[in-house]
Amino acid sequence: MHETPLLILAIFVIIALWQAIEWYSKNILFLRKNGIYELYRSIITPRIPYFNALSEDGKKKFIKRVFYFMKDKKFEGREGVIINDEMKILISASAVQLTFGFKNYLLYYFNKIIIYPEEYFFRNELYKGATTKGTVMLSWKNFIEGYADGSDKINLGLHELAHALELDIFFGNNYNVFFASYYDEFRTKAEDEIEKTESTDIANSFLRNYSYTNVHEFFAASVEAFFENPHEFQKAMPRLYLNLCVLMNQDPANSMRNDYTLTPDFTGRLEIPGEEIEKYLKENRTSLNKSWNWSFTAASIGIFIGSMTTSVLCYYTIINLPVLLSIISVVTIVSLFAQYNYYKRNVNDSFPVYLLYSIFGIGVNTMALILLINFLIVMPGEVIYNFKVIGKTIEYDNNNLRDYSVTITMYNEELDNEREVTFKGHSGTPKELNAIKISVSTRDGLFGFPVIKDEVPVYEEE
Ligand SMILES: [Zn+2]
Repeated sequence: MHETPLLILAIFVIIALWQAIEWYSKNILFLRKNGIYELYRSIITPRIPYFNALSEDGKKKFIKRVFYFMKDKKFEGREGVIINDEMKILISASAVQLTFGFKNYLLYYFNKIIIYPEEYFFRNELYKGATTKGTVMLSWKNFIEGYADGSDKINLGLHELAHALELDIFFGNNYNVFFASYYDEFRTKAEDEIEKTESTDIANSFLRNYSYTNVHEFFAASVEAFFENPHEFQKAMPRLYLNLCVLMNQDPANSMRNDYTLTPDFTGRLEIPGEEIEKYLKENRTSLNKSWNWSFTAASIGIFIGSMTTSVLCYYTIINLPVLLSIISVVTIVSLFAQYNYYKRNVNDSFPVYLLYSIFGIGVNTMALILLINFLIVMPGEVIYNFKVIGKTIEYDNNNLRDYSVTITMYNEELDNEREVTFKGHSGTPKELNAIKISVSTRDGLFGFPVIKDEVPVYEEE
C-alpha cells in the first residue's frame, strides 16, 4: 500500500486543478466571453477619469469588481426612473473607485441603491442624496454632474458612498479591517481639525464649508476632494491628504503608475518632514497589527485544537516522529513562501507572528487534518504487525493495590516504529509481563498510515 499516499496526492492535485479551471472559466472567461469587459469599459471610460488612468491589469481588476458589486446590490428606481445598465455600472464603479485600495470592497452592509431622476423631497426637504442603514439614495442628475466636472471637488456618488463606507464599519460585520482600525485615528484628527478651524478660515478652506458640519461630512467631503483634486489637496492640506492616503490605502495623485498604490516616494511630494511621514506609516502598520484577524484564529486553533488532535491521533496511528515533523515542516515552508507578500501587506507585518501562523495555523492544522482523514477513512483488509517487546513497567493503583497497569515499550523493524501500549488489569500476577511480542492489527488509512484496531500480547514464540 506504499503507493497510496502518492495516489491521494495525485487526486488532490487533480481536484485543485479542476477547481482552478472552474474558477477561471466562471470568473475570467465569463466576463470576456459575454462582452462584459467591453460593455463596462465603453460605459465607464467617458465618465470616470479615475478609471482611464489605470493600467490594463488595473482596468480588468476594476471591471471585475464593478461586476461583483453590481451583482451584490439591488437597484430600484423612484419617481419614474427605469433602472438601466448605465446607472448600475456607473454607481458600482463609483463604489469600486472609493474602495479600490481595499481587499474587502463590497460594502456588505448595503444591499439597496435607490435612484431618483433629480433632487427629491423627503420630509419636506430637498435632497440630492442620502445614506441610511442598508440603503443609498441618489439623484441621477446630480450623480452624473458629480463626474461631469472632474475637479470641482463635488461628487455626489463618492460622497454618499463614503457615508456608506462609514456606516458599514459601524453596523456591518464584514468590512475592510484595516480601514476600520485606522478610521478611529482619522476621526480624532478630523475632530481636532473641525474644532481648531476658525469660522473665517473655514470660508477660505480648501475643503468646502459644508465639510465642517460634523465629522461624517468632513470625511465624505474630504473623500470627494481627495479623488477630484488630489494635487491641489496635497498642496493645501498635506497632512490630511496623507491621512486619507493611509486610510483609503491609495494615492489618487499617483495616477501615472502602479494604479494609485502608495509607492514609497509618494510622501516625497508632500512638504512634511520625513520623521512625521515615518510616524504616519508606522501608525498605518501598527493599526494593521493590532487588529485581530483570521490568521490569529487559525494559529489559535492550531495551538489548541490542532496539536491536541495530532497527539491523540498519533496514539491510534502508526507514524514515525520524523515523518510527522517533516510533513509539518514542508507544509509550513511552502506556506511561508506562498503567502509572505500578501500577508505582510494585508494582514500583519511582524515576521514572528507570520511564522507562528504558518507553523500552527497551516502546518499543525494540516497535519491534524491529514491524520483525521486517515483515521476516518480506512481501507478494507486487516494488516497485522508484530512488535518486539523491548521494555516493561508496572504501576499499581495507590487506592487499590490489586489494580495494575502494565506499560510495554515495543518496536517493529519493518516500520522502524517504537511505541507504547498499556494494559490494565486487577488481581493476580500481571500476565502481560510475560509477553514476548505484541500483535498489532491495523487497517491502512486513506493516506497510507496504519490505523490501530487492536493490540494483543503474545506469550510464546509460535
Ligand atoms: Zn453627507
